[in-house]
Amino acid sequence: MSNSWDPIDTLHRGFDRVVAIYLVDTPDGPALVDTGPTSTLPAVEAALAARGLALGDLRHLLLTHIHLDHAGASGTIVRRHPHIQVHVSEIGAPHVVDPSRLEKSARMLYLDEFDTLWGELAPVPQENVHALGSEVLGLECFSAIGHAKHHVAFFGPDGTLYCGDSAGVRIEPARHIVAASPPPDIDVEGWHRTIDELERRSPDRLCITHFGVKTDPADHLRRLRERLDLFAERIGSGMGLDEFVALDRAELAAQGSDDADLYERAGSLVQSHAGLSRYWTKRREREANA
Ligand SMILES: [Zn+2]
Repeated sequence: MSNSWDPIDTLHRGFDRVVAIYLVDTPDGPALVDTGPTSTLPAVEAALAARGLALGDLRHLLLTHIHLDHAGASGTIVRRHPHIQVHVSEIGAPHVVDPSRLEKSARMLYLDEFDTLWGELAPVPQENVHALGSEVLGLECFSAIGHAKHHVAFFGPDGTLYCGDSAGVRIEPARHIVAASPPPDIDVEGWHRTIDELERRSPDRLCITHFGVKTDPADHLRRLRERLDLFAERIGSGMGLDEFVALDRAELAAQGSDDADLYERAGSLVQSHAGLSRYWTKRREREANA
């Protein structure tokens, strides 16, 4: 039997267990928490069809944050079905209405791979975009910074917490957690406060993007804290990229997992090294000027 919170696997680039999105039944009809990138829309449509729904049956898109693996398809979906409303943090909203800056920086990062990885990044008309407050469609909504400064999480009355990337990357069936820390706005202290907020709600389950539903929230969040501190410590002490990657891979392998490739696709260690290096540079500048 399937549960309402079972993930939709977007089968990003043909791989399962990399990018999940979630279908939520709201008082105003079906909504998706995150959309995946446009490149995975056919898989999403097939998964919706298996649940008896078409894309056009959706009423709302709830975005945890605007990174392309989470929200990339929003504009394309709304262009096809203009009745669909998009809910996003106030900081994220302008980039959904005009994604050109987002696209430009992503193209610099992904180069030739941009189109195959993400597909089209279409704008969402201003009138379809709603800045999130503390409640949306029967879900509680709250800021979940750390991974990104515009990140939010959604908490449902059934105890389901939709975390996006704020609870890290943990690809089932492995227990290993990667605190994915891409540039530009990793905030280690802010992320700890977010984990406080996630814990405070005593959720029954965590729906995370990469990947799946975690039914051991307390243990997962405790270990996320440790992993975040460990990552920050390693890079703060000047650890080079090769050693950083090798250590994490060895820890994953020690748990008997051979999903290193999926982990890298979901939460690149190369990007985490860059993001945390930037975090330390900025923090030390701040401290030097204090
Ligand atoms: Zn992500």
